[in-house]
Amino acid sequence: MLQIIDHIPAGLATVAQSDLGTLFNGPTLMHLEGRKPERLFVAVLQHGNEDVGLRAVQNLLIRYRDRELPRSLSVFFANIEAARLNQRRLPHQPDYNRVWPGGESEPCPESDMMRKVVETMSRGPLFASVDLHNNIGLNPHYACINRTDHRFLQLATLFSRTVVYFTQPRGVQSLAFAALCPAVTLECGQAGNEHGIDHATEFLDACLHLESIPEHPVHDRDIDLFHTTAVVKVHAQARLGIGNEDGDIVLIHDLEFFNFRELQPGTVFGTVKTGRDDSLLVIDDRGRNRVEDYFEVENSQLRLRRTVMPSMLTVNKTAIRQDCLCYFMERWPLTKSD
Ligand SMILES: [Zn+2]
Repeated sequence: MLQIIDHIPAGLATVAQSDLGTLFNGPTLMHLEGRKPERLFVAVLQHGNEDVGLRAVQNLLIRYRDRELPRSLSVFFANIEAARLNQRRLPHQPDYNRVWPGGESEPCPESDMMRKVVETMSRGPLFASVDLHNNIGLNPHYACINRTDHRFLQLATLFSRTVVYFTQPRGVQSLAFAALCPAVTLECGQAGNEHGIDHATEFLDACLHLESIPEHPVHDRDIDLFHTTAVVKVHAQARLGIGNEDGDIVLIHDLEFFNFRELQPGTVFGTVKTGRDDSLLVIDDRGRNRVEDYFEVENSQLRLRRTVMPSMLTVNKTAIRQDCLCYFMERWPLTKSD
């Protein structure tokens, strides 16, 4: 399944995401040599409808067209098949960013492929690992880490002062690479947004130039660190409506304005038909459904029961069904260890 190449295919710097399949015969790991041998690993298009990674890598290829790369670079072009149709994943595929080593999914061709990517990359010196994503709702640009090690925090704050530390879901790329080198997942706003692409490009270029990642602590005035405590999903059997639509659960249409805002108890998320809150699941880090700790239903209104800060909150039904409604987070003190 995995193709490994050591050159830049003609046309890669300008090809549209939907046409990548004309250059690559499936998921492809591309190794390029640069001046410094400790390699930067970059994952793009793990979700086929998120263009920021490909566009940022294309910017680098253009920038270094006639120059030596400051450091060696390996790019993993992941879900080429879903990218052709601008989908997160295709119906027959697993979510590519849930099947990396350390995950809990059943073995499949895609998980074998991810293991091969990790094995291949672990053979040489690694500088850092960067996985590039877009998201659907209104979110700031932020970096995610799976370890609160100083170097991980330093790499994350090179991108944004907003940093999210998470340990669930497992099976994500950054968690698999966290054992090898500082690893971040970058959330660069919505797909197609030029500011997100520019931001990702400058971050990657900085990683190519940096001599080393500082090992000293990040000052608390330079970081807003959050920890995800739960993922919120809509029950697969529940009919989902948005705004004025009908459904077992109907979410208010502008929910995404709640992202990265501290919400007070009583905040209304929508209405539920049955008068019960079993249309939603709030799964904590230990896999327990804690919906009753987080939500209550009063006069059919679905209200928060406690203070939370959501991220990735969206009213895009495909995104909700394929991924989740949102994550809930809390502030994480810098001094706390993981
Ligand atoms: Zn993504």
